[in-house]
Amino acid sequence: MANQNPFHHALQQLEHAATLGKIPADVLEILKRPQRIIEVSIPVRMDDGTVKVFEGYRVQYNDARGPFKGGIRFHPKTNLAEVKALAFWMAIKCATVDIPFGGGKGGVTVDAKSLSPRELEALSRGWVKSLYKNIGPEVDVPAPDVYTTPQIMGWMVDEYSKLTGKWQPGTFTGKPLTIGGALGREYSTGLGGLFVLNQLMGKLKKKPSQTTVAVQGYGNVGYFMAKLLHEAGYKVVAASDSHGGIMDVAKKGMDPDVIMKGKKEHGGITATYGNVTDAKKYRAVTNEQLLALSVDVLVPAALENAITEKNAGKIKASIVLEMSNGGVTPDADAKLHRKNIVVAPDILANAGGVAGSYFEWVQNITNSYWTEKKFTTELKETMERAFDAVWKAHDTYGTDLRTAAWIVATKRIGDAITARGI
Ligand code: NAD
Repeated sequence: MANQNPFHHALQQLEHAATLGKIPADVLEILKRPQRIIEVSIPVRMDDGTVKVFEGYRVQYNDARGPFKGGIRFHPKTNLAEVKALAFWMAIKCATVDIPFGGGKGGVTVDAKSLSPRELEALSRGWVKSLYKNIGPEVDVPAPDVYTTPQIMGWMVDEYSKLTGKWQPGTFTGKPLTIGGALGREYSTGLGGLFVLNQLMGKLKKKPSQTTVAVQGYGNVGYFMAKLLHEAGYKVVAASDSHGGIMDVAKKGMDPDVIMKGKKEHGGITATYGNVTDAKKYRAVTNEQLLALSVDVLVPAALENAITEKNAGKIKASIVLEMSNGGVTPDADAKLHRKNIVVAPDILANAGGVAGSYFEWVQNITNSYWTEKKFTTELKETMERAFDAVWKAHDTYGTDLRTAAWIVATKRIGDAITARGI
């Protein structure tokens, strides 16, 4: 069976880029390992009076270019190999979009959906109690990721400030607006993805109005991606969540807000089929079927390893906009490349989230707040600059966009390591 360890995938991507981009051997040695791994046990008093202990993590991968930066994931399958890979990809992503952060990631192995709101708050505060000495605005700045929300960031920043005795909103990003969140941050990952896709469409001479899209995953990233694509004139013809999805048989394009309404009212996207959607025009699809639909653009926006060597052969889209981290495995990547399918890689496509987090952090540490317009203008410039750098490397090295982005990023991190001295 193919290796599904995401950290091994990240190392494969590093080695490939290092060979082609001639990354110095000492930089390569440093980048093969995280600087620090912290594992904690977090006790939570459950509603039934018992105590449950959850495993928590923070991996601080590399801070050569600035404080560690990266989200916290609450998921039943979260484990150290996954968090290590996600932390590594954060370091590479921050360098790809040239923001002054390193890379980190956190997680808790938990089925967050099974917790009551009180238990979820206790777990979130528990994560901070276990780790507050290792984070901070100039040290390590966490954010939301899968099944963590602005509300959870609110509890966390409150706990951090109580423990340290000072209000420090720049310790966490992705916060609610009333406590230092940034206007625009909520949808910045999707908007960054749209800017990248628009640039790519220009290079490939394709038009949004003639482009169909399928989106896998309908959380913060998938929903806003679908909504922004729809508003920009693309036709979103299929969408799914963890239970499955629906597709618009006539491929005219669905309204992502109608899908979201149905998901909320009926507990899942598939359940909207026939309830808020016209059953004659729509068809229920599984997540596997969604990936293999005849669409122009496929957007994996759920978890890693969605497209593997097993199903890569079935992909019919000509562009894969990888909005999830690690959504495409290296074996699948090679297969897609051979089929001339262009993959806009995670470390570029979903970097609007961390760029937005950077803007939020800048506002917090300067205590001066931006308009939404300034936020989206800065995001557009940042993403387009990053796209240009990656496209240039893709031309120079004659390689795919992922390897090109890794080359751009590892050179920048390597320069920082060299400038600071080992
Ligand atoms: P989220 O918790 O808001 O949403 C996750 C979505 O994926 C949900 O709709 C869930 O139902 C769906 N899902 C879960 N398992 C699935 C499965 N097996 N098949 C299909 N759908 C499934 O999470 P998010 O913040 O949207 O993150 C999604 C991805 O994007 C992750 O890989 C994350 O690391 C990455 N990402 C997130 C951000 C951000 O700002 N939130 C930024 C960059 C990258």
